[in-house]
Amino acid sequence: MNLRIARLHHPVTALGPGIRLGIWTQGCSLACPGCLSRDTWSAGPEHAVPVRSVLDWCEGHAADGVDGVSLSGGEPSEQPEALGELLNGLAERRERYHWDLLCWTGLEEAEFAARCPAAYGLLDGLVTGPYRAAEAGGGRWRGSANQRLIPLTALGRERYGPWTGTEPAPDAPGELQFQVESDRVYVIGVPRPGDPARIQRALAQRGVMLDGVTWRP
Ligand code: SF4
Repeated sequence: MNLRIARLHHPVTALGPGIRLGIWTQGCSLACPGCLSRDTWSAGPEHAVPVRSVLDWCEGHAADGVDGVSLSGGEPSEQPEALGELLNGLAERRERYHWDLLCWTGLEEAEFAARCPAAYGLLDGLVTGPYRAAEAGGGRWRGSANQRLIPLTALGRERYGPWTGTEPAPDAPGELQFQVESDRVYVIGVPRPGDPARIQRALAQRGVMLDGVTWRP
């Protein structure tokens, strides 16, 4: 089975606890106003890769001290069967490597569970709700105050429990990572209000002019 993928990255330290594997699915029809990741909206077949190859990539990092896997998008729930197959494979590895499995969705918990029952039953935690620009700046690893971090298992309660509040944690460490690949700069994490413009200005001051950004059409 194939899964549309926007990108894979290791190590991810700004989306979930510890050192993580990041899997961004491709395709989102929710079109939240103010979305910072418009590049993940299109659902073309050119983004499809075998689930097996994603699992092989994860396995290849197993010896690197990985604590968990963060699945984001795009909207992961728009590929329910492939997401279920991926999580099946990851859940096997969770037993072996003690990884936790955390997923972001623009749906509410009940909607996600109804659309993706197999995936829902395998996750340790879910970050739910659409991004709402008018409520920008929610709790840790969330973009707006309506979004919830919901532990679903004992492992999830252990690892995410301290961070379920909806207010930004005052002592939270810096939550953005930057990665430069060829002629692209990737920002990993959940920017706070004003961060995108600040990032663009800071890059410009260092002579890096961006031709386009993912938060504007
Ligand atoms: S914020 Fe997330 S759910 Fe909303 S449009 Fe962007 S990618 Fe889709």
